[in-house]
Amino acid sequence: MTTKLHTCSICEDPIPVEWNGWALGHNAAPVNDGRCCEACNDFVVIPTRLKLITTRAETRFAPDWNEHCPE
Ligand SMILES: [Zn+2]
Repeated sequence: MTTKLHTCSICEDPIPVEWNGWALGHNAAPVNDGRCCEACNDFVVIPTRLKLITTRAETRFAPDWNEHCPE
């Protein structure tokens, strides 16, 4: 098995290979389409996802609210 180090798409550091041989780090979405290291996942990607979920919940709620409250 070739161990080519991937580069974090956020901080551009090499992503370390984990004990089980996993070398792809974490999914960087929705920050970008690439992969990212553990630190960026914890401090950049997860907070961005939480923010998006909150925003989506609000925008989804708005049309429903209007439907149930006709003018
Ligand atoms: Zn990183």
